[in-house]
Amino acid sequence: MIFYKTDEEIELIRESCLLVCKTLAHVASIIKPGMTGEQLDKEAEALIRDHHAIPGFKGYGGFPATLCISVNEGVVHGIPNKTAFKDGDIVSVDCGTYMNEFYGDAAYTFALGEVDEATMELLRVTNTSLYRAIDSAVAGKRLGDIGFAVQDYCEKQHAYGVVRELVGHGIGKSLHEAPEVPNYGKRGKGPMLKEGLVIAIEPMVNLGVKEVRQAKDGWTIITKDNKPSAHYEHTIAVRKGKADILSNHVIVEEEIKKNDAVREVVIKDLV
Ligand code: MG
Ligand code: MG
Repeated sequence: MIFYKTDEEIELIRESCLLVCKTLAHVASIIKPGMTGEQLDKEAEALIRDHHAIPGFKGYGGFPATLCISVNEGVVHGIPNKTAFKDGDIVSVDCGTYMNEFYGDAAYTFALGEVDEATMELLRVTNTSLYRAIDSAVAGKRLGDIGFAVQDYCEKQHAYGVVRELVGHGIGKSLHEAPEVPNYGKRGKGPMLKEGLVIAIEPMVNLGVKEVRQAKDGWTIITKDNKPSAHYEHTIAVRKGKADILSNHVIVEEEIKKNDAVREVVIKDLV
């Protein structure tokens, strides 16, 4: 069952999403080679609790941390650990918060230092595909249009692997609500998008094959061929004409600009 949100509820979700993005912005300001996921996780949890909110992922399905940190071949759901990031790593940081009875959810993949050009292009294309998908998330279009936007751009135009096993989702009083929001689909197919639908759109795109597997830790999803994977996520509200992006990557990207250890992932050609 889909829960359509009132304008008041959408504002509460926006607040939760803004705290998520403040957390990601803090991550963007301190992340560098030599630092560990555990260190980032501690900072993130403290920041969220300072704002009288609760980390949305901690304890969710037994997940032990505030951030999901997935490095290089890690797609999503990585547990922050004691391994230091290296120059050339890409680090996906996914964060959720719970505040005023509503969840917020967003993710960003950071490029540390001398990331090779093929991987930088994967990041740019995946980040761009998120905005192409958001362009399709308007009232009157269909759910399949969102997935089509990601799949067509990443798979057909750029020959990357779009992950099938993990999808975006409705979000509100629960972290994961109906509907599922796949990153693949057919134009004009699926349920009609209506105003008040709030969804997390999150392309997960692999440099190599689309297939993934679970790492030995029982959580981290990694690519089957161990090639890098990128992940960007926004929470949006469906509106007429143009989606309302409730999360905010701009404040994250402002911190990236100031951090010499992190490279910018610039959006490419939009539609
Ligand atoms: Mg997320
Ligand atoms: Mg999500």
